[in-house]
Amino acid sequence: MHIDDIFEKHPTTFSFEFFPPKTETGAQQLFETIRQIEALSPAFVDVTYGAGGATRDLTHDLVLRLHSESDVATIPHLTTVCQREDEIRDILETYARAGINNILALGGDPPRNKSGWDRSQDTFRYATNLVEYIKRFNAEGVHSDSRGFGIGVAAYPEGHPATPNRLKEMDYLKSKVDAGADYIVTQLFFDNGDFYDFRERCEFAGINIPILAGLMPITSLGGMIRMADLAGGTRYPAALLRAVDRCGDDDDAVKRVGIHWATQQCLQLLEHDVRGVHFYTLNHSDATRQIYETLALTHMT
Ligand code: FAD
Repeated sequence: MHIDDIFEKHPTTFSFEFFPPKTETGAQQLFETIRQIEALSPAFVDVTYGAGGATRDLTHDLVLRLHSESDVATIPHLTTVCQREDEIRDILETYARAGINNILALGGDPPRNKSGWDRSQDTFRYATNLVEYIKRFNAEGVHSDSRGFGIGVAAYPEGHPATPNRLKEMDYLKSKVDAGADYIVTQLFFDNGDFYDFRERCEFAGINIPILAGLMPITSLGGMIRMADLAGGTRYPAALLRAVDRCGDDDDAVKRVGIHWATQQCLQLLEHDVRGVHFYTLNHSDATRQIYETLALTHMT
């Protein structure tokens, strides 16, 4: 389903992000998770795109399998990094043939094993260039849907580390939207104030497409520490840090605190008319299912 139709069907979207598992056992577990998530009637699910190598094929395989085996709309991520135009075109053609309707177009980070990657080898430098390219591809009429692919882009309520100048960053985001993006998904954040302010800054900049708020329930101390690194610049509010600290070695308590925090965030976002909530699941469903139950979200889908 094209993202425009998804937005029309769901006044508030709830979506879930997965990454492609590297083993068959991991894949089986993921499909079990997805079955559980399907019962929540999500607006769509996303599949991330690894920066280079075999995990990219895993993304394509997972996307195509999900698309054929599940009723939920599947949105693949696609990145500019370590990628040539012909490779991107192949992927778009494959997805178009399979009936995939949307793409999340990203800059992407170079893989850890290719740090120092020479970006001049990539056809596209920024996500904006990829959005432009997908729009051109859409205009060729290859896709059976005359609108072509719906296009999502990323944004960072707390700012992206590579652009310390927040005014310039907003200009870049505006160009990405003007290039033809249909919606925005934000990086995860733990203080809703950052999201509300970001949304107002978008409005001020003339960005009027739907903005989906990225939430990640903390489920372990290790995960929280890893995410501080991966999500580059994520700020953990003092109250959250104190609550996690009080848990000591009690892993279950950390999970309860993390889910409670994300539940409160979700509740407040709904009170502030958020257009959608995008859950970073790390391939598990129990945390989001608990949030759904606590907030009776199934009655909103
Ligand atoms: P861009 O829009 O290209 O921006 C990258 C940086 O360049 C920003 O600092 C921006 O301000 C700056 N910039 C943009 N345009 C210009 C310009 N014209 N001149 C100078 N600077 C400019 N990564 C993956 O590898 N795979 C994934 O599947 C993936 N999924 C993600 C999903 C979401 C929802 C989010 C929020 C992030 C995801 N990422 C993923 C991480 C993301 O790819 C990285 O954070 C990347 O560094 C930035 O991506 P972007 O799409 O915002 O890139």
